[in-house]
Formats: sequence, C-alpha cells, structure tokens
Amino acid sequence: MAAPVKPAPFEYVRARSLHEAAELLAADPDAKVLAGGQSLVPMLSMRLARPARLVDVGRIEHLAYVDEVEGHLEIGATATQTQVATHPLTLSRVPILSAGIARIGHTQIRNRGTVCGSLAHHDPSAELPALALALDARLTSFSVRGPVSRTADAFFTGTFDTALDLDEVLTSVQFAMPPEGTGWSFREVARRSGDFALVGVGALLHTDDAGVVDHVRISLFGVGSTPVRVRAVEDRLLGTVVDEPALDAAAEATADQIDPTSDAHASADYRREVAAHLVQEALAEAWATTRRKHADA
Ligand SMILES: Cc1cc2nc3c(=O)[nH]c(=O)nc-3n(C[C@H](O)[C@H](O)[C@H](O)COP(=O)(O)OP(=O)(O)OC[C@H]3O[C@@H](n4cnc5c(N)ncnc54)[C@H](O)[C@@H]3O)c2cc1C
Repeated sequence: MAAPVKPAPFEYVRARSLHEAAELLAADPDAKVLAGGQSLVPMLSMRLARPARLVDVGRIEHLAYVDEVEGHLEIGATATQTQVATHPLTLSRVPILSAGIARIGHTQIRNRGTVCGSLAHHDPSAELPALALALDARLTSFSVRGPVSRTADAFFTGTFDTALDLDEVLTSVQFAMPPEGTGWSFREVARRSGDFALVGVGALLHTDDAGVVDHVRISLFGVGSTPVRVRAVEDRLLGTVVDEPALDAAAEATADQIDPTSDAHASADYRREVAAHLVQEALAEAWATTRRKHADA
C-alpha cells in the first residue's frame, strides 16, 4: 500500500436533508457522498480519489434505522455495520447478516462504516454485496429526479462500480427475511483475521417437511468483479433431498460456474478450488441446521 499523503483540497458540506444532499450532488459532478469514511478517507489520503466536494450524509436525521418493512429488513443509509449486526431484528430474523458483518475488518471500522456505504463502494471482496445477492435485496436511492429502486442483481455492475448515477444517494437497502426455519452459513478464507477475504460464501437453505429443498441461495465473493450467485447449483438442489453426493456435486458444479482471475493475492485456480470447498461446507452446515430445526419441531 502506498504511503499515506495529505488529501487533495476539497470542499466539505454537511447535508441537513436528503433533498439538500441530492441538490449538492447534482450541482457538482465532482462531488462525492461521505458516509462512514472507512473507505473514502483512506482513498482521499492516498489520492486515489480527488473529489472537489464531499457531501456528508452522516447527520441527516432519521436515516440511521433498522426496521421490518413488508417482510424485509430495511436499513437506512447511515446505520452503521455494528448497529445492524447487533440489532435484535437482524439477530432473530436475518442472522446470516450479523455473521457476515462480523467478518468485516475490525470493530473500529464496523463502528463507523455503514452498510449502505459498503454496498455503494462495492469492493468485490466485500461481504455485504454478496449478502445483498443472497438475501434478494432491493436498494433504493434518491436524486433530484426522485427515488429509484434496483435489485441487487442490477445494482452491482463491476469492481468499485454500481448502477448509481454520480448524483444519487443510496438511501436504504431492504434485505428479504428468509423463510422461518432456513438454515444458513457464512464462510470465508482470508490471510489474517480482519483482512479482506480471498474468497467467501453466504448460503441459505430451506426444506419442506419432507426434507425437499424449496429455497436455496448461494452467493460468492472474491471470485469476480461482482458477487456471484451460482444459480445453476441452486437449481440442481431445488426440489431434491440433500445428501452427501449432492453436496459433492454442488462443489464440482460451483467450480465450473465461476471464472475468477489471478491477482497479487491468489491465483484463479486457488480461488476456484477454495470457492468449491466453501460452497460444500456452507451447504452442509445450512442443511444440518435445517435438519436440526425439523428434528426439534
Ligand atoms: C483497515 C480496513 C479494513 C477493512 N476491511 C473490510 C472487510 O474486510 N470487508 C469489507 O467489506 N469492508 C472492509 N473495509 C471497508 C469498510 O467496510 C467500509 O466501511 C465500507 O466499505 C464503506 O462504508 P462507509 O460508510 O465507511 O463509506 P465511505 O467510506 O464514506 O464511502 C465509500 C464509498 O461509497 C460512497 N457512498 C457511501 N455511502 C453512500 C450512499 N449512501 N450513497 C451513495 N454513495 C455512497 C462514497 O461516495 C464512497 O465512494 C475495511 C476498511 C478498512 C479501513
């Protein structure tokens, strides 16, 4: 990593409302939203970003919320990662989200970093974009043209790139609450605790009373320029009764479905192999939890 330097000069404005933030962004194509600052401030210091204006949305009232809305866990733009991970609704209804957030960096980062900031930033090694895919998220933004809602599939377009226009503020994300009794697993491989993952997976699995899979989501990160839902593997599992051979087949099919690239941290082959193992382990764990719930019922 390059030695830190002073940021290039910029104008700092604290927005008092979403409308004001939208107007400030619309007035200057070189403006950027500032949320928790946990990615943007280091980028400014290294001069990897040189916005003319920072529009701080951190003090806009009523955006730091976690709420249940029509079967979704809705999270406002300024809710921090810690706030979301420790919220009783998250812990009881979408525990995979708490587990995923716990793997982000360190406590200090999660205390300041926001869930929406991580989604807008879209590092392909980040946990939250993959969780957005696994949890059928919808992301809502606001600009002077009004609100826009997008699916997670449409939102993540490439490395550090999203469907957000330069003047849009991401205002909330709605994660679907999985069906009651859904088993889940969140796993990743990183060089050291707190590092960005080399490869990770979030998996959700639900079976009917006969043990037949009727809901499954498998979302990988670190294997491409966006998170990857391995739908071909999900489709093979849907309508079947999971057993050991099915888990082996899922791992094999995963390796065939992804096309990771090599970089300074890991080779493409390594990422493919780790992804296959992680999917097998995650599905086995999610399946075991589901079975335990059936046994307890
Ligand atoms: C040492 C370190 C380790 C880290 N490890 C991990 C890790 O393991 N996994 C991981 O996922 N992340 C990690 N992070 C990043 C962390 O999760 C960030 O907090 C997060 O990516 C960005 O959230 P933020 O609220 O801090 O956004 P900011 O840093 O304020 O903004 C990031 C980018 O998103 C844009 N943005 C933010 N909010 C909005 C919004 N509401 N609307 C439109 N655009 C917006 C900003 O303009 C900027 O381009 C790490 C960071 C550090 C410093």
